[in-house]
Amino acid sequence: MTEIKFYNYPILCGKADEVRNYLIEQIENGKKLFIVTLNSQIFLRAEQIPDYMKALRKADFHLPDGAGIVWAIKKHCNIKSDRIPGIDTMDYLCDEAVKRNWTVYLLGAKPDVVKKAADILKKRGVKIVGYHHGYFEDQTPAKEIQKLKPDLLFVGMGAPRQELWIAQHMHLPFKLAMGVGGSFDVIAG
Ligand code: UDP
Repeated sequence: MTEIKFYNYPILCGKADEVRNYLIEQIENGKKLFIVTLNSQIFLRAEQIPDYMKALRKADFHLPDGAGIVWAIKKHCNIKSDRIPGIDTMDYLCDEAVKRNWTVYLLGAKPDVVKKAADILKKRGVKIVGYHHGYFEDQTPAKEIQKLKPDLLFVGMGAPRQELWIAQHMHLPFKLAMGVGGSFDVIAG
């Protein structure tokens, strides 16, 4: 596994398992993580929206989620990496959460979708301590997260909203926050 700087984004490259184990190690060592699952869509939005680029640069690590990013890293940095999709990383982290008794909060998607995703994950043994849909205008989710102190916070509100929200809420008590796009819709089926 290698960490590179690509357009000033810190990207973890290499074998998916090694990268994911490294994240677990960092959490176990007490580091609070903001993870971005970088793909071409996110990259291009950040080129157009300066505040979004700023938010992405606040992330501790980016993972090469998209094939375009894997290609660009190989071409510009001559580094080979697996594609590390956000949904697979969320899946892996949920398994680790079960093993390590970590709590999880889901933020994003439509009310029925996030509820269904939470129910499905609960059936897998994941300790979901709370969830909230992604169409809020107030501080309700932030207040809930402050109270519930989840270990893992998955934010599925699409780009750029999810990373902007995480960057603005890094003071909240969690161990890892990651934007997961439409993953709750995928889990809910
Ligand atoms: N979403 C949300 N709040 C918003 C806009 C979108 O929670 O204000 C949700 C939407 O319901 C969907 C996800 O964000 O579950 C975005 O999915 P999309 O496929 O657009 O994201 P991608 O996976 O392409 O990043």
